[in-house]
Amino acid sequence: MFESLSDRLGGVFDRLTKQGALSEDDVRTALREVRVALLEADVSLPVARNFIKSVEKKATGAAVTKSVTPGQQVVKIVHDELIGVLTGDGDPGTLRIDQAPAPILMVGLQGSGKTTTTAKLAKRLTERDKKRVLMASLDVNRPAAMEQLEILGKQIGVDTLPIVKGEDPVTIAKRAKTQAAFGGYDVYMLDTAGRLHIDQELIAQAAAVRDVVTPRETLLVVDGLTGQDAVNVATEFDDKIGVSGVVLTRMDGDGRGGAALSMREVTGKPIRFVGLGEKMDALETFEPERVAGRILG
Ligand code: GDP
Repeated sequence: MFESLSDRLGGVFDRLTKQGALSEDDVRTALREVRVALLEADVSLPVARNFIKSVEKKATGAAVTKSVTPGQQVVKIVHDELIGVLTGDGDPGTLRIDQAPAPILMVGLQGSGKTTTTAKLAKRLTERDKKRVLMASLDVNRPAAMEQLEILGKQIGVDTLPIVKGEDPVTIAKRAKTQAAFGGYDVYMLDTAGRLHIDQELIAQAAAVRDVVTPRETLLVVDGLTGQDAVNVATEFDDKIGVSGVVLTRMDGDGRGGAALSMREVTGKPIRFVGLGEKMDALETFEPERVAGRILG
């Protein structure tokens, strides 16, 4: 178990206050603890450094050093700063799907939870937003992945584009677009092929599909437990394909959510949803408060 940041700071300030009034150096000592807590939560070093710098400015004011509860004050400043970094413009749960049929491109590495997330999101759009959704898998190299989406579609009552053997991803995307237009769908979701690593072929394929459908949203699905790797993957996908938002999966695991902070700070992309389990209902709108609480412990 991690020692929570609040407890940790409490301990530091207990020692400090016994020596009289707090100095700015004392606050700096406390901020070192904050930095360790951030690194333990898997926030990358440069992001943690920047973050501490901006907290330091606010925490060295008289309100903190003269406070009877400086530990709590610093925790509050850190908390508010976390919320500031994690909060994007607009509501993360509102997708740009007003013009029917609106294409949503789902991208990400194999195993990130892309197919599962596609189905979870389709279910949410169907049930909450009352949209008619069509899903299509473009993963022609892995027939099992195509079948998996079909099975999930049946399970949640969302249509999938019939599988035609031997088609290439661009042809499938065009067929999905036509089917969505003529079938009266509000949204069509394209589950692109995943690979273990980002390679030329993966990027070329996703870019070709993007150019054919002009997605309203391109959502990158990344495994929230992979920390800094998740951020690198996001940077690369965004550079090469362009991403409109991120879905962090496996946030039900025991990671501490630092990836969310690094993601926001490094890529500037909003986190839209978090995956909280394998079940089809385990998808929630991203809430900065929850992640901040998790990082702080
Ligand atoms: P893909 O290769 O990216 O399409 O990955 P899948 O959608 O097939 O998911 C891989 C595995 O991760 C499956 O066993 C999913 O049930 C599981 N998974 C996906 N999202 C989550 C999540 O948010 N939490 C947990 N615990 N498991 C997840």
